[in-house]
Amino acid sequence: MRSVPQHHTRPIWAEISASRLRDNFRALQAAAGPQVEMLAVVKADAYGHGAVECAPVLAAAGARWLGVTSVEEGVAVRSALGILPQGLMPRVLVMCGLWPTEESAVLDRGLTPVVWEPYHLDLLEAEARRRGMPARSVAVHAEIDTGMARQGVPPGPLLDRLQARFTPDSPLLLEGVMTHLASTEVADDPQNHQQTIAFAKALVQVAAAGLHPAWVHAGNTSSTDSGYAAREVSALAESVGARAMTRAGLALYGYALPLAFLHLDGPAAVANVAASLQPVMTWKTRIISLREIGVGDTVGYSATFVAPAHMRVALLPVGYADGFRRGLSSSTAQPGGSVLVHGMRAPIVGRVSMDLTVVDVSAIPHAAIGDEVVLIGEQRAEFVGADEQAALAGTSVYEILCGISDRVARTLVE
Ligand SMILES: *Cc1c(COP(=O)(O)O)cnc(C)c1O
Repeated sequence: MRSVPQHHTRPIWAEISASRLRDNFRALQAAAGPQVEMLAVVKADAYGHGAVECAPVLAAAGARWLGVTSVEEGVAVRSALGILPQGLMPRVLVMCGLWPTEESAVLDRGLTPVVWEPYHLDLLEAEARRRGMPARSVAVHAEIDTGMARQGVPPGPLLDRLQARFTPDSPLLLEGVMTHLASTEVADDPQNHQQTIAFAKALVQVAAAGLHPAWVHAGNTSSTDSGYAAREVSALAESVGARAMTRAGLALYGYALPLAFLHLDGPAAVANVAASLQPVMTWKTRIISLREIGVGDTVGYSATFVAPAHMRVALLPVGYADGFRRGLSSSTAQPGGSVLVHGMRAPIVGRVSMDLTVVDVSAIPHAAIGDEVVLIGEQRAEFVGADEQAALAGTSVYEILCGISDRVARTLVE
């Protein structure tokens, strides 16, 4: 979790819109339908937006479940939520298990870990018994590996062995069963169907062991967008008398991968929540210096850019150490990314370096030291998306957002 500097004075900050975060959460909940609970994923510091800032906003918007990666993140989110009235305190799902020494924090903070390795249960059970906790008082969610081969227990004998641990006198309670889908951004990818079938089989196996989890969950942003959450996840939960839940992260922050189809006549009922999302973050800085350069002058490391004409260039206090990707660099031959100054695009000139970036403001004659610059987000009628930067930097929008570093202050705005 971010270690927040005491005083942010360097002019670089990210404004996080509480109202947009709320609106995106509500749009997602509506797309998933009334049968499906929407878990709000705030892992990786809320995809770079600040979990401490975002978690309370989501709780106030009605999120009853939040998802984090680790126990460390869970502890930080619990602290950020502070004391909420009874019934408004969200549950916190720790999605990547727990590691030895973390079992105390799980119990102290009432976190709900996703489990699949026997050692996860050993740690929790031993600590709960040591504390004399009653039977079925420590809720966990078991992850089923339905084809991603990353986390989770495969259906069959290993699942049986895990299930055998939930004896009536155990302090452990199997409250949820979940899986993770690998290819949801392709709405009609056969892997979605294969994983659904495998998950359904696992749910039958759980029921056959006499276990009745309260929650069944699967899916993410793209499967909410495609309508999978509303259709398949609710049907899977209903088949075993459980409540359905799905888990969205990226869309909360206003981005979604474009939904693809293998067949042009793909699923009829696409939720298309992506159309109503609004980017939550506006990443800003200010011009700290300006200069004129002449024909043939070079800019930045390795002199990759040679001025073809007289230019006016502005210096920005942002670089790859802030998460402003080096892949946005330009050279004389190859244009790069751009930023917004006075509502106009200012192209990046030369290499993005560790702490500094130069942009061309020749076409923005009033640009002056102190002027606000938008790195990601909108300014007047123009917009630079994190997805646009991802394409230029050869990565995903996820990596752009969660790569914005601790040096950038996050400021919650309405
Ligand atoms: C990150 C994550 C999600 C959310 O994925 P998005 O594509 O950001 O919506 C859902 N489930 C699990 C298990 C995750 O790790």
